[in-house]
Amino acid sequence: MRPFEYVTATSIETARQLLGANGHYLAGGNDLLGRLKDDITEAVRLVNIKGIGALRHIEPGPDRWQIGALVTIAEIEDHAELRKIFPGLQQAAAEVGSQQIRNVATLGGNLAQHSRCWYYRHRDIQCLKKRGRICYALEGDNRYHALFTGNVCISPVVSNLAIALTALDATAVIWRDGQERRLTMAELYELAWDNPTAHHSLRPGDLLLRVEIPTKRPRSAYLQVSEKHSFDWALVSCAAAARLENGRIYDARVALGCISPVPHQVAAANQFLEGKPLERDVAEKAADLLLTGAEPHEHNAYKIPMARALIRRTLLQLGT
Ligand SMILES: Cc1cc2nc3c(=O)[nH]c(=O)nc-3n(C[C@H](O)[C@H](O)[C@H](O)COP(=O)(O)OP(=O)(O)OC[C@H]3O[C@@H](n4cnc5c(N)ncnc54)[C@H](O)[C@@H]3O)c2cc1C
Ligand code: SF4
Repeated sequence: MRPFEYVTATSIETARQLLGANGHYLAGGNDLLGRLKDDITEAVRLVNIKGIGALRHIEPGPDRWQIGALVTIAEIEDHAELRKIFPGLQQAAAEVGSQQIRNVATLGGNLAQHSRCWYYRHRDIQCLKKRGRICYALEGDNRYHALFTGNVCISPVVSNLAIALTALDATAVIWRDGQERRLTMAELYELAWDNPTAHHSLRPGDLLLRVEIPTKRPRSAYLQVSEKHSFDWALVSCAAAARLENGRIYDARVALGCISPVPHQVAAANQFLEGKPLERDVAEKAADLLLTGAEPHEHNAYKIPMARALIRRTLLQLGT
């Protein structure tokens, strides 16, 4: 590990000032410290943001909830009222890593975590995402990689919370250039669709402040399939949120994780679900729409039937 400076910020403004040009915000450190130890990320300065009290709260509200970027994943998992209002978000939180990781990992760090592609995470491999010349996964071992991408990199977004928050139509509020900016979840990741070096759309210096979640979809669910029961990322994940009236679906949003560099959504699938009965054949048709155009690679075609089953099960879980 190379030497770096370590400073603690106590406000949003000072965090940004202290960061300078080559600093990194440090929250729970689960992702960032691993990258520093493995020499994947270079840091001149770490700015510990955990002292910024304004980012640590969960604030319920009748129309929307606010969850601060420093709220831990365990706090989301254990919040009794949140579990009732946003069960899909609670389920996504409960599936992250292990209890020890969830105790320190934060919402902001989970959304901003870097690629888990094993070529990217190898200290000696300079792939396209690290501004090298080629993607090693394309012709290599791509069993954990994406079915969709807008560029050459096939590393998928693996944040559980990003997928659940996308289905819930949440807004990410960030601090950029001295003011608050609001991004949809799609906007928070859209840069990674086109740009192989991007993990998300945050620019250097952007500080995630909170997410705001509308309460208008009282039914939500999240399911994933992983190789291991815990301490592992998903192979494929799926979140859905909607209103149900007399067994029919309204305002539905479905999002898939681990199959695209962005939370995978298809507007035609959401539109198709509008007003439909919550039944197996409807869920299967939605799955067809969500997976149209999937491009499997040599080792990851298994993700297509897995995603299809997850979409069906997640949608049907909205009715339970
Ligand atoms: C064994 C293991 C299993 C895991 N399994 C899963 C899983 O199943 N699902 C899943 O979703 N994740 C999983 N993770 C990832 C884990 O959830 C993330 O590493 C963690 O949430 C990161 O949060 P942190 O607070 O520790 O972030 P840090 O490591 O402190 O930061 C991560 C990145 O985000 C930036 N950052 C942090 N906070 C902010 C902010 N407020 N604004 C802007 N940038 C910020 C940092 O600069 C850094 O680049 C796993 C991790 C491990 C080690
Ligand atoms: S998938 Fe992306 S991160 Fe992985 S080797 Fe290819 S360019 Fe690098």
